[in-house]
Amino acid sequence: MPTSTEISHSALHTHFAEVKQQIKHAAEAANRSIDSIALLAVSKTKPASAIAELYGAGQRQFGENYVQEALDKITELHELTDIIWHFIGPLQSNKTKDVAENFDWVHSIDREKLVRRLNDQRPAKRGPLNILIQVNIDNEASKAGVGLHDINALAASIASADRLQLRGIMAIPNPEATAKEQEHSFQQLQKAYRQLQEQHSEVDTLSLGMSNDLELAIKYGSTMVRVGTALFGARNK
Ligand SMILES: *Cc1c(COP(=O)(O)O)cnc(C)c1O
Repeated sequence: MPTSTEISHSALHTHFAEVKQQIKHAAEAANRSIDSIALLAVSKTKPASAIAELYGAGQRQFGENYVQEALDKITELHELTDIIWHFIGPLQSNKTKDVAENFDWVHSIDREKLVRRLNDQRPAKRGPLNILIQVNIDNEASKAGVGLHDINALAASIASADRLQLRGIMAIPNPEATAKEQEHSFQQLQKAYRQLQEQHSEVDTLSLGMSNDLELAIKYGSTMVRVGTALFGARNK
């Protein structure tokens, strides 16, 4: 029997099918193509075996929040060479080297110093590191991210860095906000994303939506939903 924190394989497969269905329905409701929305499986606190299981079912993109925990899993799963690893947690500058060397994407860039360090530390042989600017859309003190007015300057610096590829914006809207406030935040993000695309034609990713708000995110143009709990169950401590 699996322990209470370790999801059974059959439950994982059921959740995977359900989440994909939910994305499909949200895409249809928004009159969008299902192919325009990627699923990022957020595997923080979950064992490498759960990632391998979902990989076996066809999932390739995985998101991790803690550098050391992620490195352990990346090492353990090194034979699955086409996994795409996304770093989505708060990034301290003393951890940028590990991230530059081991990940394919970073969603949480909110300052110049991280841009400089990641660019310097990205190994040339790995190709450009894909970068999303984290936007603190609801000005929450507890969250990382730049304000809407600071996106352009940071985008320009990422776009001019040789070993980085600017891809777009990531945000975590406040789940406690009222429905009306939430709609407003999602709308502002969609607008900021479109403005960024006008200035940087390479921008193609709006990383928005988690287990509880992925439908709203898809309504407002998300191209990548980051789903943890709905796939893997509640987080392990
Ligand atoms: C943990 C986390 C997620 C997944 O959240 P769920 O509510 O479990 O789907 C998504 N994005 C970020 C940045 C996270 O830290």
